[in-house]
Amino acid sequence: MNQDYEKLQMYLDKQAALGAALTLLEWDNETLAPEKAMDNTARCVGILSEELYRCLVNEEVPGLLKKLGQAEDLTEIQAAVVRVLSKELAKIERISAKEQREFSELLSKSGMMWQKAKAEDDFALFAPYLEQVVAAIRKHNRYQLEGDNGDGTGSLYDVSLNEYEEGFGRKELDTFFAELKETIVPLLGRIQSSQKKMDTDFMHRKYDVEKQKQFNRWLAEYLGFDFSKGVMGESEHPFTTNLHNRDVRITTHYYEDNLISGIFSTIHETGHALYEMNVPDELTLTPVGGGASCGMHESQSRMLENMIGRSREFWEPVFGKLQETFPEQLCDVDLEQFVQAVNCVVPDLIRTESDELTYCLHIMVRYEAEKKLIEEEYPVSELPKLWNELYQEYLGVTPDSDKDGVLQDVHWSGGMFGYFPSYALGNAFAAQLYNKMKQEMDVPQLLRSGQIGQIINWLKEHVHCYGAAKPAGEILKLATGEEFCPAYYVQYLKEKYTKLYELN
Ligand code: ZN
Repeated sequence: MNQDYEKLQMYLDKQAALGAALTLLEWDNETLAPEKAMDNTARCVGILSEELYRCLVNEEVPGLLKKLGQAEDLTEIQAAVVRVLSKELAKIERISAKEQREFSELLSKSGMMWQKAKAEDDFALFAPYLEQVVAAIRKHNRYQLEGDNGDGTGSLYDVSLNEYEEGFGRKELDTFFAELKETIVPLLGRIQSSQKKMDTDFMHRKYDVEKQKQFNRWLAEYLGFDFSKGVMGESEHPFTTNLHNRDVRITTHYYEDNLISGIFSTIHETGHALYEMNVPDELTLTPVGGGASCGMHESQSRMLENMIGRSREFWEPVFGKLQETFPEQLCDVDLEQFVQAVNCVVPDLIRTESDELTYCLHIMVRYEAEKKLIEEEYPVSELPKLWNELYQEYLGVTPDSDKDGVLQDVHWSGGMFGYFPSYALGNAFAAQLYNKMKQEMDVPQLLRSGQIGQIINWLKEHVHCYGAAKPAGEILKLATGEEFCPAYYVQYLKEKYTKLYELN
């Protein structure tokens, strides 16, 4: 092995171990930790995080990375590790330790104020903090541009976007969202004026939570979740995390009066989990041992949740099992009614509760708002007004309070600008991959016969196997033979909802 890489390896091992420990503490905080543990645990997390930071920022590693950047005897994985770490280090080095610390403190305050503002439905409480967060991000992004081009020219929002999805800046996203808007907004209008009405009342009967748990566990396993390498818990907001490829954890949330919320959370998070479980052993516990990007991760969860999990074919062999679990509640519901109900389109105010079709419209509102804030110094005080106008324009609904409007998401209070668009990109990646998969095998037939393993295997061979050793755009191209192309997603939505709502 290259001697410099051998030296780097010691830091990588430590980084992986600390990362796993921090993940475990974070999981525990969200699921089982007692209420009063928070402050003491936070101290431990702070110390471990500082150690983790020192694995990259220290006397030795920057020099090693510089030399290894020129080395010609690295394996493909080693080269990917060096590329990823060098990029991360460059980003860190452009912001001074003092500014970094101030920013963390600001985020922690702004997070608390967002919570308070949301609880009290008072945007004015949060606004001064959001202003500071936006100003700090603009400043940090300018440093990155100066580091990249020397003169600091270029788009400040592109820096934020590229942080979450390499190669997807304003140019790509403007085109993408324009195409979506052109399709979804009129399609939604036609759906709303159509005669077709779906009965969703049965989903809100009383469904015993213990029985839901049994069914969801069975469902996760049916999809390929391996309980010898994974754990399923519960939390307020469902999520997936992992220590490495053999310890992957998902949560879901059950509501007694909402059968499908838990089911589709489970399917969604299982999509994320399978990605992590299928990352090869030689990649796990390295800096390229997770999913390729937020968007690629979301493509796996959303393909499973929406394209597969809301299809009639998927439920053909599964619905009977659900009926067996809830014989009284579902005795008068047939497969057709169930599939229609889980695909019902209702434009609403809250992103996390939205249906498949209108989801991207929620994201577009956030994209337009972020672009203005980061790129144009748009006044934060005007944000609620802008938000409400965009909701009216795209979804035809206007929130009557900021807590159901501009204050609903946590992301901005945590400085996560540029993250939202990756949710929408995930849908489009998924559609492009799904289209290719369907050319290579009879997906509907596999679903009807309960052979979902073959579908997951296709994803393993074309997406999961790379971990983060290649950027998402490259994986997409290797898997489909094409550059990113939003037309597949647009086509998928048009076909699905035209048929479902009998619009022809
Ligand atoms: Zn997700």
